[in-house]
Amino acid sequence: MARVIKQKPMNWVERLYVFECLRGLMTTLKHAARGLFRYEELPTISYPEGQPEIRNTYRAKHRLMLRPDGTPRCVACGMCAAACPAHCIFIEGTQSEDGRIEKRVMRFDIDHLTCVFCGLCVEACPVDALRMDTKKISFEHRTRDEFVAHLSDLIDWNPADYPDDAQSQVAPGGTKNKQALETWGLEVK
Ligand code: SF4
Ligand code: SF4
Repeated sequence: MARVIKQKPMNWVERLYVFECLRGLMTTLKHAARGLFRYEELPTISYPEGQPEIRNTYRAKHRLMLRPDGTPRCVACGMCAAACPAHCIFIEGTQSEDGRIEKRVMRFDIDHLTCVFCGLCVEACPVDALRMDTKKISFEHRTRDEFVAHLSDLIDWNPADYPDDAQSQVAPGGTKNKQALETWGLEVK
C-alpha cells in the first residue's frame, strides 16, 4: 500500500542554505579529523599490514586432504572437475598400489585465475578430499603460470593450522596421526 510521507516545510534558516551547507561541511570535517587523530576507531584495517579476520567457512584457496600415511585422500574420480563451472580443475589419475582404493591422483591442478570460488568442487567430492578452508584469500604472483596450484602446493599444509578439525589431525604431524596409522595397520614412526 502506498504511504504518503509529509515533508516538513523548511524554515527561513534552512531556506538560506548557507547554514545547511556549513552543517554538511562540519560532518565531513568531523569524519576527516577522526581519520587523522582517532585512526584506531575507524571500521577499516590498514591492509596489508593488518589482515582481516577470516572464518574457515570462507571459500578460500583449496587444499587436498591427506591420509595418515601422507598420501592424498583424492581417488581421482574427477567429480570435482565435472562439477566445476569454470573448467579450471585438471586431474590425471593412475592405478593405485593400495588395494583399498582403485585409483590415486598423479596430477591435480587448479587454475586460480579462472576459478570463481563457488565451492562446487568441494561439494561434489565424495571422499572429503578437497577443502577451501585455508583462509588464504590473496594471491600475489609474477606470472600467470604461478596462479596454477599443483598437487604439491595443494597438499602442502600444516595440521597445526587446523586444530579443531579431526580430519586434518589424522594427517602426518597431526595429533591423531599415530592412532590413525595403527588403525590402518601401518608402521608408526
Ligand atoms: S571453487 Fe568453483 S570454480 Fe573454483 S575450482 Fe571449485 S568448482 Fe571450480
Ligand atoms: S572429487 Fe574428490 S576424490 Fe574426486 S577427483 Fe576431485 S578431489 Fe579427488
